[in-house]
Amino acid sequence: MPTFDYDLFVIGGGSGGVRAGRVAASLGKRVAIAEEYRFGGTCVIRGCVPKKLFVYASQYHEHFEDAAGYGWTVGESQFDWKALVAAKDREITRLEGLYRRGLENAGAEIIESRAELAGPNSVRIVKTGQIVTAERIVIAVGGGPNPHASLPGYELCISSNEAFHLESLPRSILIAGGGYIAVEFANIFHGLGVDTTLIYRGKEILSRFDHDMRQGLHEAMEAKGIRIICQDVITKVEKMAAGGLHAETKNSGTLAVDTVMLALGRDPHTVGLGLETAGVKLNERGAIIVDEYSRTNVPNIFALGDVTDRVQLTPVAIHEAMCFIETEYKNNPTSPDHDLIATAVFSQPEIGTVGLSEEEAAKRYPEIEVYRAQFRPMKATLSGRAEKMIMKLVVNSADRKVLGAHVLGHDAGEMAQLLGITLKAGCTKDDFDRTMAVHPTAAEELVTMYNPSYRIRNGERV
Ligand code: NDP
Repeated sequence: MPTFDYDLFVIGGGSGGVRAGRVAASLGKRVAIAEEYRFGGTCVIRGCVPKKLFVYASQYHEHFEDAAGYGWTVGESQFDWKALVAAKDREITRLEGLYRRGLENAGAEIIESRAELAGPNSVRIVKTGQIVTAERIVIAVGGGPNPHASLPGYELCISSNEAFHLESLPRSILIAGGGYIAVEFANIFHGLGVDTTLIYRGKEILSRFDHDMRQGLHEAMEAKGIRIICQDVITKVEKMAAGGLHAETKNSGTLAVDTVMLALGRDPHTVGLGLETAGVKLNERGAIIVDEYSRTNVPNIFALGDVTDRVQLTPVAIHEAMCFIETEYKNNPTSPDHDLIATAVFSQPEIGTVGLSEEEAAKRYPEIEVYRAQFRPMKATLSGRAEKMIMKLVVNSADRKVLGAHVLGHDAGEMAQLLGITLKAGCTKDDFDRTMAVHPTAAEELVTMYNPSYRIRNGERV
């Protein structure tokens, strides 16, 4: 006779939670999964997926312009924001349905309510007040935009959450932040015709990326007409009587815009979750502390995905969920591998990257070789678009291992996925050299950069 109501109770129906719940249920475990909003989590409902759909939408005006160089005459075009939002919402609803059906088909019980920990093996279903017990509990509640509550007027600003549901497209927007969300949305809004300014506190956008990617993207965005202000922050936001907002900045005066969007990182959703009741420890950022098997300090309570603030990426949460399943239900202890995670920034142009930036590699290795190519992609020849691709390989001179691969340009995200495999496999530059090019592609450049552009020895470029 089981002593618990469930073998597994999952709190949070996002990428990590759904994967853990669905697979555990398909293994015959008695699983319940609670979600207070919509199944699919940040990625499906208000993150990666709707963002990418908006990216596509925002690229059409350049496609229309480029068409002329290829002999096409495109008639007058206009954009309908409401039609885009409605189409996006239909797709999100379809995907949400798939997530739910996957859980149901596997035999998991879906609970449409917030759930909070009531003890080390018990959970309170907030909607009904019922307390249920479970042998194991997985917390996968994700995170939300940092509201930046110390900023006077922060409540007048939007985050990426609201950006997906704006009643109408603003005429102008000021976006604060220099990370993934800020640069992606700056390009989306600009592409849709919004007068766009990005303000970032650091010297150059995308602080953790390779410097060529950062500078290359900065230049490309400015060339399109996006205003980028670095080394500055918003100090106050006020509503104007005539409509719109005034954003005071530290160094750039007051900017008058329709909308201010804050993209200043994301915080784990741990407040009010009953973690103190159950004795689960948090770090100073409010994220749940876990070991290499996603175990919290309380036996049988686990945490996955953004709520643990390891690497805030959907595939990482899914991978952590699969490792949990292997470890707990397949008797095969598996810890998530967070090394060499390929990633893409869906800016315009895109960035695809895996491994160490030149700066990071130069710090860790006595000598590195940098292979760098900057060129005009073939499509831009007839379209006449002034754009450049940058490709870069960072190689350890001692053993020729490729430490980092970075691409700025069309389809960089697609390339990053495949480069991720080569770096994970430990390929050397010689492996790249032995690989036949696929012609004519932009990616062939990655296997035809035979001589290093420069070396860095003991931190000095030689
Ligand atoms: P990021 O961590 O990428 O960027 C946060 C930005 O906000 C940084 O530029 C940071 O500056 C700045 N910042 C933080 N606090 C302050 C402050 N108090 N004042 C001024 N600036 C501040 O977070 P995002 O919100 O853009 O995205 C959250 C996460 O979601 C990302 O880390 C990423 O993992 C994930 N994501 C992934 C995407 C993808 O895979 N394509 C797309 C969108 C999100 P500084 O750099 O100086 O610290």
